[in-house]
Amino acid sequence: MSAVELAALIRDRQPCVVLTGAGVSTESGIPDFRSPSGLWATFDPLEYGSIEAFHADPLKVWSFYKPRVAMLTEAEPNPAHVALAELERRGFVEAVVTQNIDLLHERAGSKEVVEVHGSIRTATCPGCGARYQVEQVLALLANADAPGCPACGAILKPDVVFFGELLPPEAIERAYQLAHRARLLLVVGSALEVYPVAGLPEETLAAGGALAIVNRGRTPYDGRAVLRIDGSAGEVLPAVVAAL
Ligand SMILES: [Zn+2]
Repeated sequence: MSAVELAALIRDRQPCVVLTGAGVSTESGIPDFRSPSGLWATFDPLEYGSIEAFHADPLKVWSFYKPRVAMLTEAEPNPAHVALAELERRGFVEAVVTQNIDLLHERAGSKEVVEVHGSIRTATCPGCGARYQVEQVLALLANADAPGCPACGAILKPDVVFFGELLPPEAIERAYQLAHRARLLLVVGSALEVYPVAGLPEETLAAGGALAIVNRGRTPYDGRAVLRIDGSAGEVLPAVVAAL
């Protein structure tokens, strides 16, 4: 019933913009690093995930990132990613704004993806500025604990937003523009706790749009959503596609 209601809401309230967080990728086997049992509970983000840590000791940071990058590139899109790509293809979704760095929306077929926390697609050399594709980074990692720049030897930094770094300004600006004009902002798999992304629902609501949430667990916006489904994105979203 809830999926049918959500389908009706998406049909009635165009344009619809989707905001996704870690919860959309957990069914692809990618853990939510911020969950109480997640990696950031085991690894201190300041020691392994901050830009200061990277500048101080890039080898130590790569000891954490190397298995993670391998895991992310081996993961496959799940039915939630596929359903969102299908909704876009059928004209029901204008864009997907994502906090995820795993490229799974793109690999599922989504065309308009705004990556507000960057992605593993590329890595940049802090020494000479050269940029490398993830395939090249993986090839470099096959023979080393950390990828050294083939041009100058400096340790490459993945183009994901580290703690202590600013979010990419163009992506954030685009995300706020999309949220502003959305008549429906559909939040999937995000607890809406990390700013500035957590401010996107406020932008939609202030502009007269509505908010729908599909998430396991509570969010600070639950009371202001017209529809809220506490369930699995991989089950709910394919049901929405089937209902449209
Ligand atoms: Zn270089």
